Amino acid sequence: MLSKLILAFILFGGLYLLLRHLSRSADQIPPPPAADKPSAPAAEAMIECRQCGVHVPQSEVVFASGYTFCSTAHRDQYLTRP
Ligand SMILES: [Zn+2]
Repeated sequence: MLSKLILAFILFGGLYLLLRHLSRSADQIPPPPAADKPSAPAAEAMIECRQCGVHVPQSEVVFASGYTFCSTAHRDQYLTRP
């Protein structure tokens, strides 16, 4: 009777230690490093608008007459100015 009790004690003790070890090793997993975002706007070249001087990403720039603009509205304003 006593030996069964000891056996159960050891069994549960071992189980407890095993679970504690597993949970502790899970805690030690470092957080994943900040993954590089596929489309980082900072990596894109910034072009200055000829009309207002605002810098806009190269993909959003409007080209006209060798100049660059932030929008078609500013392109039209600059090209139709007196
Ligand atoms: Zn502009």
